[in-house]
Amino acid sequence: MEVDSSLCLRCGACVSICPVDAIEATDSYVRPNERCTDCGACRKICPVGAIK
Ligand code: SF4
Ligand code: SF4
Repeated sequence: MEVDSSLCLRCGACVSICPVDAIEATDSYVRPNERCTDCGACRKICPVGAIK
């Protein structure tokens, strides 16, 4: 998966829902790391459709 940083609000919803704690978030970016299993949970919860 990829996060479109131009859409992302950094709301933290994807970070909270990830079952394997794979999303790294800072003030300037949100992105998955190598633990991501591509389960799709973060994509479904993102309120602005920023995760592809
Ligand atoms: S759920 Fe969407 S808007 Fe919220 S931090 Fe994640 S990618 Fe950004
Ligand atoms: S696709 Fe699943 S495992 Fe990967 S970052 Fe999103 S919630 Fe986590």
